[in-house]
Amino acid sequence: ELEKIITINEPEYPEKNEIATIIHDFVNENESTIADDLCEEMSLAFKGLTEFEIRCILQLAMATNGELTHNDLKFVFTQKKQMIKKSGILEMIELKESVNDIGGLENLKAWLERKKIVFKNIPKAKEYGVDMPKGMLIAGVPGCGKSLTAKVTAQLFEVPLLRLDMGKILGKYVGESEENMRKAIKLAEAISPCVLWIDELEKAFSGMGGNSEGNEVTTRLFGTFLTWMQEKKSPVFVIATANNITSLPPELLRKGRFDEIFYVGLPNDEERKKIFEIHINKRRPQDFKAIDVISLVAKTKDYSGADIEGVVKDGVENSFADGNGSLTTEYIMKAIENTRPL
Ligand code: ATP
Repeated sequence: ELEKIITINEPEYPEKNEIATIIHDFVNENESTIADDLCEEMSLAFKGLTEFEIRCILQLAMATNGELTHNDLKFVFTQKKQMIKKSGILEMIELKESVNDIGGLENLKAWLERKKIVFKNIPKAKEYGVDMPKGMLIAGVPGCGKSLTAKVTAQLFEVPLLRLDMGKILGKYVGESEENMRKAIKLAEAISPCVLWIDELEKAFSGMGGNSEGNEVTTRLFGTFLTWMQEKKSPVFVIATANNITSLPPELLRKGRFDEIFYVGLPNDEERKKIFEIHINKRRPQDFKAIDVISLVAKTKDYSGADIEGVVKDGVENSFADGNGSLTTEYIMKAIENTRPL
């Protein structure tokens, strides 16, 4: 009987300008001041948190030296990371990699550079008639840089990277999983612009279409996800990675869900050379000149990026253990001989 006279009101996370007001109020209450540019950056950093959480973090930041400074921004990020982790469904991933850390995958990198132009100028692009970028699906051989690409994309777009953990979405009560999925989507939208990364998509939605109890839940979860992908208007760029694309339902692969589907295969000679360069330079830049990369490339046909990283790591470790003082081609060669590529 009461239903008809009740209006549903879903409280949203505070928007950027609302967060700015919260910060200004907080600063005034504490008889302090804040620079305009810092307030702007902080409002962006606080997206996806509730007013209570924002105030808690501000209190802590203020407690250290009695005012809010640029140094506190880093603190805000680490605290936010914790709060998101505590919510239990999403995880904020720290970004260390840049585009230069990917060897090869030139088409993919060029495509991302073009998406970046759209993603960083959304209002202008929209006015021009460009659709909101939806995301991409990367499929292919394990260890060929799928996860690496997800991290690099967030770095390139200069937005946070959130990882959706499907294992944590599944709850034990009826309807809990769907609710968790909705919560995750809402949180990602509140934090947007951001990159939402779903690792091993085929595992997340495995067993779809079957008729046991568990499969029904995955089918419904999948439905929620598909509808969101279709209707999505917020700047959340979804990156899904999969090892086995054939176990994914065809609805997911059709045009209109993802902007593009990429396949990453084993690196060719040129690409392996670049991957060797990246990993040797990361660990022993001083020894790079003396190393014969060409012969290493010739010996590593059918090696994945992760295999190559593995042999470089082994070589470095062994040369250190021998007290050799520098990394040589022989050490890496030996590691190659002891390795069987996946
Ligand atoms: P999985 O399917 O098993 O999750 P993946 O394709 O996601 O594998 P990554 O985690 O991206 O693999 O790669 C593993 C590691 O291998 C990376 O951390 C990176 O150091 C190295 N690697 C893989 N591919 C490349 C590449 N193209 N350039 C440079 N490094 C690479």
